[in-house]
Amino acid sequence: MTKQIFEVARAAIPVAGTDQTFPVRRIYCIGRNYAAHAREMGSDPTREPPFFFQKPSDAIQVVMPGETAEHPYPSLTKNYHYEVELVAALNKGGRNIPVDKALDCVYGYAVGLDMTRRDLQSEMKDGKKPWDIGKGFDNGAPVGPILPAAKSGHFKAGEISLSVNGTVKQKADLADMIWSVAEQISRLSQLFELKAGDLIMSGTPENVGPVIVGDTMVARIAGLPDLSLKIVKPAA
Ligand code: MN
Repeated sequence: MTKQIFEVARAAIPVAGTDQTFPVRRIYCIGRNYAAHAREMGSDPTREPPFFFQKPSDAIQVVMPGETAEHPYPSLTKNYHYEVELVAALNKGGRNIPVDKALDCVYGYAVGLDMTRRDLQSEMKDGKKPWDIGKGFDNGAPVGPILPAAKSGHFKAGEISLSVNGTVKQKADLADMIWSVAEQISRLSQLFELKAGDLIMSGTPENVGPVIVGDTMVARIAGLPDLSLKIVKPAA
């Protein structure tokens, strides 16, 4: 028997109302999945097939209901953006999953934020370089507890919003997604073998924007617990 020379922690998200956690394998994210947001990012939503990127699983910051978690302003950005998103958590996977079987893979749902160093993302995009540094940084994926779909049903419609210091900035309906969660799973499963523990951040509606140190964000999806974060200075 060989032995690991040290242990590495695995990200895990609490399951709402239980003492269980959901272990995280990968975080997939879809880009430009609400038409108005695609337009504000400078693309034509009607002609674009879905595209995906990943965040590292240890970018997760678990935020419990009722708390306002401190969220460190990340390094090397001057334009730090929120993107409120529905998160689907998979406990089954596969390859080439048909759309009508895709939701069988979803264990539950959570509210998440696809936090973005927008200036670094734009710089890399403009230079035709990969934009991981804009998306895949430490604490870049705040997420609330997962509500099992067995209790809540599947989230296909309902209000999704984000406020900063009490002012609503993003507000839309999950039904406005261009590609549904089932379609995202089906498409992703053509690109990758999906597995239990995978998360899918399903895209953000329009009106993304910046936060600065001292701001408090509240992300909401009807039927899920609110996610509340205060931006703080990073540890020196
Ligand atoms: Mn996003």
